[in-house]
Amino acid sequence: MSELHKFLFDGLPVRGCIVKLTHAWTEILARRLANTQTGAWPPPVAELLGEMAAAGVLMQSNIKFNGALVLQIFGDGPVKVAVAEVQHDLSLRVTAKVVGDVGVNARLPDLVNVANKGRCAITLDPKDKFPGQQPYQGVVPLHGDHNEKLDKLSDVLEHYMLQSEQLDTTLILAADSKVAAGLLIQRLPMAGEGNLAGSLVSRENEDEIGRNEDYNRISILARSLTRQELLELDVDTILQRLFWEERVLRFEPKAPVFACTCSRARVSSMIRGLGIEEAESILAERGEIDVGCDFCGQQYRFDAVDAAQIFTSAGDQPPSTSKVQ
Ligand SMILES: [Zn+2]
Repeated sequence: MSELHKFLFDGLPVRGCIVKLTHAWTEILARRLANTQTGAWPPPVAELLGEMAAAGVLMQSNIKFNGALVLQIFGDGPVKVAVAEVQHDLSLRVTAKVVGDVGVNARLPDLVNVANKGRCAITLDPKDKFPGQQPYQGVVPLHGDHNEKLDKLSDVLEHYMLQSEQLDTTLILAADSKVAAGLLIQRLPMAGEGNLAGSLVSRENEDEIGRNEDYNRISILARSLTRQELLELDVDTILQRLFWEERVLRFEPKAPVFACTCSRARVSSMIRGLGIEEAESILAERGEIDVGCDFCGQQYRFDAVDAAQIFTSAGDQPPSTSKVQ
């Protein structure tokens, strides 16, 4: 089962969380693989999406906010857009739009930052918006302060956290075809339980950036974690190996899950919106109506009998929608 663990370093202004997406991640990959129109994502794209999913869960679990956290990369390479969306309850989904070829060893700049014009946006979309309320959005480039292309998503997000929240952050991310995982260590202005209340931007905090010895020591320990270890070891072993000399206070783990809002009922409703003539002409041409979810790739197929049912039972159905997801 996928798991998220939060922890504090007792008496120190440092907190952390670690996520391992297993079933939630393989379900995402399986849906895409099963889609006969798209097939699986190229492995470097899947790896990027896995890292985005893990990072999205870490960021969502680190803020006091009821709504969706959406991590988006707008790329200038073969990946035009990559999205990870994580709800407050840690249900998540990811998608990407890929145009053109992706090299087998493509790295972040090859995927989304060829001309150094790629951007990463973090959006907080509240669940219950008051009228006219806009979601909060922060945008950072995919390069560092000296225009150097950043090689890893973790570098981009560490940069974002420092800029937007003025907090030192250490992020380790990794994904393969079975697991998407991440470890986040963050310095906070307060020690102890107050850490969980979120960040406090202040002058005193700014002065501490890069200077807190406890954070720096724990960050160095965290950075010694290899990609392989993060993917293969269980959470207890990772925390024990990295922080055996520290006093780590653990919290009740949570279980992130995959969830997409698409459903057969929504697709039925969309087909009803097309009208019976359009539906029959598609059936005549192709023998079935095949609608794939743009987000998760799930395919919904309707043969002539299914389609007839949609139109004969129209009176019992809610109004039609044009959205699959
Ligand atoms: Zn879907």
